[in-house]
Amino acid sequence: MRTGIYIHYPFCLKKCLYCDFNSAASSTVGPEQYVSALLGEMELRQRLLPGPCSAPTLYFGGGTPSLMSPPLVGRLIEATVRLFGLESDAEVTLEANPGTLTPDKLSGFRAAGVNRLSLGVQSFEDRLLARLGRVHTAREAVDSFRLARRAGFDNISIDLMHSLPEQSLPEWRAALQEGIALGAEHVSAYALTVEDGTPFALLQSSGELPLPPEEWAARMFESTCELLTAAGYRQYEISNFALPGRASRHNSAYWSRQSYLGFGAGAHSLYNTDGLGHRWKNAGELDAYLTAVSGGRIPEEEGEELSVEDAVSESFFLGLRMLDGLDLAPLEARYGEKPLERHLDEVARLEKSGLLLREGSRIRLAPHAVILANTVFSRFL
Ligand code: SF4
Repeated sequence: MRTGIYIHYPFCLKKCLYCDFNSAASSTVGPEQYVSALLGEMELRQRLLPGPCSAPTLYFGGGTPSLMSPPLVGRLIEATVRLFGLESDAEVTLEANPGTLTPDKLSGFRAAGVNRLSLGVQSFEDRLLARLGRVHTAREAVDSFRLARRAGFDNISIDLMHSLPEQSLPEWRAALQEGIALGAEHVSAYALTVEDGTPFALLQSSGELPLPPEEWAARMFESTCELLTAAGYRQYEISNFALPGRASRHNSAYWSRQSYLGFGAGAHSLYNTDGLGHRWKNAGELDAYLTAVSGGRIPEEEGEELSVEDAVSESFFLGLRMLDGLDLAPLEARYGEKPLERHLDEVARLEKSGLLLREGSRIRLAPHAVILANTVFSRFL
């Protein structure tokens, strides 16, 4: 069995005002204690697997995994090699935030086996960074990028956000140009979404979050595609752009429903060896997670065996996220014609309205429909 490995590190220096990820700014749990629990969980899970596996990718997400020391990251990488057969040419990504990196730390991560950095830049404007509640400045983001290069990282992704409060279109275009000028191999460019339960949701409900109008958001998205494409990046997923050969292997596997095992508080997994799969989520609450693992129990909280209908629906709405689209032939061969019927009717309707294109057995979003992707995906749920 081949499976990606995801490791969640749920601690941050400070909680950003828009963030609804499973992360906390303060905890009585130290990094060593949490990493010990991660190692314990990995051992428990490995014993449940029917046979040996190999892992083409390892992804440290969060939270802020760059708050870990390089030796702790090294211990987790070694455990992934020993327990899950991390491949010698595996993509090993670490999410890092500016303000948490030093030259020694970056060299340490590189020496431990991290070969791809995903840097949470978000904006190159200090005013916007402060609005988001980020802990770092634009200068620190640029410095972190350059330090990472000097430490030997030749595969760096940056995250940028648009449709921010009081953000203008020229500011967004300048941010993209700055990312291009830095020479990032990969850019993830997301629109801000205001999530329930966040300080931003409160501000929005009291009319204190001056978001740009929707038509501006659309123009920012168009600018993203225009500027990054002109600079040689390929849009391989709705919000993700990469220089040739630099698409995220780990995230691409999510969208094509390949197996991944998630470790840590609130981590998600898909164990898919039969075309259907079992999805589960770990306990998100830190105490519940630690108690389960220290008691020798898998910290799984919500699990679901997927039906053929679930697997087919997921194949459509995840596969269409990728700009290369989805090949219907292997789907039909795997699941048969019957479970696909409803979706193929939908495909025909979307094709007729110009939102989907078909080339042979492959379907994909029409270029002008990428911005309407959520509307298209909702038809396959
Ligand atoms: S750094 Fe990331 S995970 Fe942490 S609070 Fe900010 S957005 Fe959330």
